[in-house]
Amino acid sequence: MRRTKIIATLGPATASPPMLEALMKLGVNIFRFNMSHAPHDWVRKVAKSIREISAKLNHEVALLLDTQGPAIRTGDVPKPFDLQVGDWVSFTVKGQKGTVQITVDVNYPYLVEDIEVGSVVIVDNGLLRMEAIEKRENELVCKVLTPGPMGSRRHINLPGVDVKLPALTEKDYKDIELAFECNMDFIAMSFVRRRADIDLLRGIINERKSELRIVAKIEDQMAVRNLEEIIAACDGLMIARGDLGIEVPYEELPIIQRRAVNLCLAAVKPVIVATHLLESMITNPSPTRAEITDIANAVFEHADAIMLSGETTTGKYPLECVEIMDRIAKRIEQGKTVGSYINPLEPKTAREKINAATVYLANETKAVGICVYSHTGTKARFISGLRPQVAPIYAFTHDAHVARSLSLNFGVKAQVIAQDPDPNVILLKMVENLKRHGYVKSGESLVVVSDLAVGLETLHAIHVHTIH
Ligand code: PGA
Ligand code: MN
Repeated sequence: MRRTKIIATLGPATASPPMLEALMKLGVNIFRFNMSHAPHDWVRKVAKSIREISAKLNHEVALLLDTQGPAIRTGDVPKPFDLQVGDWVSFTVKGQKGTVQITVDVNYPYLVEDIEVGSVVIVDNGLLRMEAIEKRENELVCKVLTPGPMGSRRHINLPGVDVKLPALTEKDYKDIELAFECNMDFIAMSFVRRRADIDLLRGIINERKSELRIVAKIEDQMAVRNLEEIIAACDGLMIARGDLGIEVPYEELPIIQRRAVNLCLAAVKPVIVATHLLESMITNPSPTRAEITDIANAVFEHADAIMLSGETTTGKYPLECVEIMDRIAKRIEQGKTVGSYINPLEPKTAREKINAATVYLANETKAVGICVYSHTGTKARFISGLRPQVAPIYAFTHDAHVARSLSLNFGVKAQVIAQDPDPNVILLKMVENLKRHGYVKSGESLVVVSDLAVGLETLHAIHVHTIH
């Protein structure tokens, strides 16, 4: 089994039922809807077919809705402009009419004041670069430095600028409603800049009594400055290298990645390395050597999950991308470096100490897996966060949402079983289930964390269970 999880973003290349089924069979753990592009009706339809196929295949898969967040975007254009070097382009705000021929409006009212004449404006994830040459009334005139097409709703990055947009836009509020409606498992919050941004979303989720878990996307310099408080507040972190790689000097990117992964490991929060892992495979059938190594490095760093974006939304080889990630991750996981991670975290509470002891016992006894009954998933998440050498962590819960949410955590394989007042019945059911699936054979042992009924007492127990 692969322990590092794979997230695939859905788009026209992958949303048909046969493609969804093929992706699940290849072991995709989480499907992501990117709300910068996905219409609501489409999301509803695709989410429904994922749930159906997942039930048919008995393959647990989680759904993640990724908000657009406070991104600066150009408006709609009737057809893409074919920009040449030296062309003048005018970005207008507040409904201003542009004074040059190529004009496009922008959703950020402070664009003109936030940009200095002479600075570089980065459009469409760095594909287009322009120099700001003149400020006019509610209008910024730029000269094209790198040529290319400019279509509708392109993203503009202003590196280092503290963008004065609210943490959640009107569109985000509507998209959050959709996440509730479709019973999604995760919501990814784009351009998180501080803890308060997450608290705002948390408030909405709690008010709705939803179990939606928050993935904070770090995408700019402010997020990097506030990394520790963001990690403390979120349920998971995404290193959104697409935007981050534009917003920070690019030589800083690998350093930030490594630091963010390490901080998440120490805080026992799941972490996703995202964007451009197989970018060249949007058009090519095989990966570059640099991409192979990039995926391997994310696994060496002990990330919980790796993510595909354009590769699976509009790319020509979406299935091949998942297969390649799967192969590389599995191979790297076999190496000593991955299994030998020791978390610097000092377990504090009694619960944390029990979980840490579980990992210690599993490592020492060379069990074939850890088996845990986890109501809320907390126990399974914590054990995964300590990165046991023993794999997998078989997590059982009665709550389907909890089981799906564990799709993000390294090494966890979750299943739903019926509740029972007698803990011994649950214990037997778990072991029986693992035997039936062929995950354990007689003579092998598991480290089991569960309650045990002894006489009239219920004990929290960790024990080594040898299969007869
Ligand atoms: P996006 O986020 O795909 O929504 O832009 C990921 C990233 O920036 O890497
Ligand atoms: Mn982004």
